[in-house]
Amino acid sequence: MSLRPSILDPLFAPASTLPGVGPKIAPLLDRLLGEPGRPARVVDLLFHLPSGGIAREMKGSIADAPIGEPVTLAVTVAAHRPPPPGRRAPYRILVEDETGDVVLVFFNGQKARLEKLLPVGQRRYVSGKIELWDGMRQMVHPDRILDEKGIGSLPAVEAVYGLTEGLSSRMVGRYVGAALERVPALPEWQDPAWISRNALPALPEALALIHRPEDARSLSEEALAKAPPRRRLAYDELLASQLALALVRSRMRRLPGRTNAGDGHLVEKIRRALPFGLTGSQERAVADIRRDLVADKRMLRLLQGDVGSGKTVVGLLAMASAIEAGRQAALMAPTEILARQHYERIAPMAREAGLTVALLTGRDKGAERRAVLAGLADGSIQIAVGTHALFQEGVVFHDLGLAVVDEQHRFGVHQRLALGAKGEAVDILVMTATPIPRTLALTYFGDMDVSVLDEKPAGRKPIATKLISIERLDEIVGAIGRALANGDQVYWVCPLVGESETVDLAAAEERFEELRSVFGDRVGLVHGKLPGREKDAAMERFARGETRILVSTTVIEVGVDVPQATVMVIEHAERFGLAQLHQLRGRIGRGSRASTCLLVYKGPLGQTAQARLEMMRQTEDGFRIAEEDLRLRGEGEVLGTRQSGLPGFKLARLDVDGDLLAAARDDARLIVERDPELVSERGRALRILLYLFERDAAIRLLRAG
Ligand code: ADP
Ligand code: MG
Repeated sequence: MSLRPSILDPLFAPASTLPGVGPKIAPLLDRLLGEPGRPARVVDLLFHLPSGGIAREMKGSIADAPIGEPVTLAVTVAAHRPPPPGRRAPYRILVEDETGDVVLVFFNGQKARLEKLLPVGQRRYVSGKIELWDGMRQMVHPDRILDEKGIGSLPAVEAVYGLTEGLSSRMVGRYVGAALERVPALPEWQDPAWISRNALPALPEALALIHRPEDARSLSEEALAKAPPRRRLAYDELLASQLALALVRSRMRRLPGRTNAGDGHLVEKIRRALPFGLTGSQERAVADIRRDLVADKRMLRLLQGDVGSGKTVVGLLAMASAIEAGRQAALMAPTEILARQHYERIAPMAREAGLTVALLTGRDKGAERRAVLAGLADGSIQIAVGTHALFQEGVVFHDLGLAVVDEQHRFGVHQRLALGAKGEAVDILVMTATPIPRTLALTYFGDMDVSVLDEKPAGRKPIATKLISIERLDEIVGAIGRALANGDQVYWVCPLVGESETVDLAAAEERFEELRSVFGDRVGLVHGKLPGREKDAAMERFARGETRILVSTTVIEVGVDVPQATVMVIEHAERFGLAQLHQLRGRIGRGSRASTCLLVYKGPLGQTAQARLEMMRQTEDGFRIAEEDLRLRGEGEVLGTRQSGLPGFKLARLDVDGDLLAAARDDARLIVERDPELVSERGRALRILLYLFERDAAIRLLRAG
């Protein structure tokens, strides 16, 4: 059941309901703007902003018309020159004005059609690009040929859109035009003072101004970045996201929390069982978390720490606190492999402290699964480690007090709500290794509290990183041989390269076979297509040291911990994002022995690629690498998404809208402070905004009305 206000219905209708969008076009628009299982809608067309504009300005005369730029000319048709019969030559038509002439060129031109379109002696308007051919001006396949009446209805500027095959900008422009007709009169949700101070148009007007500009220059990349209509839309989008976060946040704050920490005896037991002392920043994080747990507010804390900084143990100590208070705790990991590894590492420590731990993933079935579910429901299992399966329907906790979410930087409002629903006043700790630059952290986590692990555990040796061309594969294999003789273990990563996973897999399998022909049974293989149990088995053999080289696709990227592994080979390193390389490299350098990372590239490298790999060679500082990555590649890539804008945003752009993001956050806070249920006039308009940008999950938190 959707509670979407009906005023928005026209915008959420499928694009196929627009005039001119028939059964042939609709699938193309779906491909361009839809999502799996969801067609392109009117609103998607409206939010598909132009990437530039073309002027259809009238040029004074043929002689003055610039070469190679789009122009519209008023001409008189002078002569038709059809190709000689039987010859495959183009159909040419000579047109002229007082200053000169142009030959219009048509390949496969049909005589009858062209004679009707361009009758000799008549005045016509043609637009297209003039080029010089053998000293003659010619225009091949004019974009448009219009008569007096037609020119009257031609827009001065035409927007250019991102496309998919089978669509032209003009077609998309036409459908957008039809979509603009559907925009209803919406109440203003922005602060009127802010609107007038920044001279921003209302939303419907902003959309029209962007899609129907009067000046092509206003659609250039720089102009669009600063243009008030686009900024208005960007601000709407940012406010919607910040408001959704602020609502969830305030709701959690207002809900009574509980004291989820006891007398510290379990924490103490675990600490004594650890083979190491905590680092200063681990101590601080543990104290931050304990303070939150003791307080009767909800905890919503982000634990940010570079790979290898030791987040897991902090999470474990937090869970022990919750159990002291008589509650249960859950640890959620993004993949099966990680869930299993967490389970295997946590279980011994937890059991030593007398705690019961169980693993629950989507893979578990049958009696085993039923036993775990029963244990969670009656409280006999105190710690549950698992994947998303933990928070699905049908999983009931006796009394969940704390949920720890590992390595999940896209933890959205929806998941947060699902977690909160699993218990009474569940405290939440999110652990992430992604060194998210501050600006991005704001969009993802709103105003979560943050603890940072900014020291590495003592005794770590720096990792020596080397760049080497794939042409020197023989030398690499030789070096690996020496490392093995030295007792080292080796990760060998083959990237996900192209569209097809099968091709990438073939590359990894081929490398595996090659290495096996040299090193025999000591080589293992793991990739995403392996059935779960085989994946685990391959990881376990490597962890136990039975295999000494582990060839893999990027499945090992996140979180895997095998301290004896000291060498990492990354093939096609130039194809990875820096943040991703950093994550991968973080798998080594965990033990007391010196580690080496070989970044293997396929030359020749472009300047940027060279600079990026050089950066990796120079530093191990995840934050520096993330900032640099952001600078070199754009923020979308940092978080592994492809679009050029802010990940998860259609209109806002991190490079130019950073100021708006901060403003939207403050605005959202103020709104929630003054009108937490969104019932004032502006509040009701803001509900429409949340629906418009599909951040409406937060609305379910509000009282009905
Ligand atoms: P990450 O932050 O990447 O999740 P882990 O929690 O997996 O890091 O910890 C990485 C390794 O460091 C593990 O083997 C862990 O046992 C070890 N470790 C954690 N804290 C310390 C510490 N204070 N001193 C020494 N080793 C530590
Ligand atoms: Mg980890």
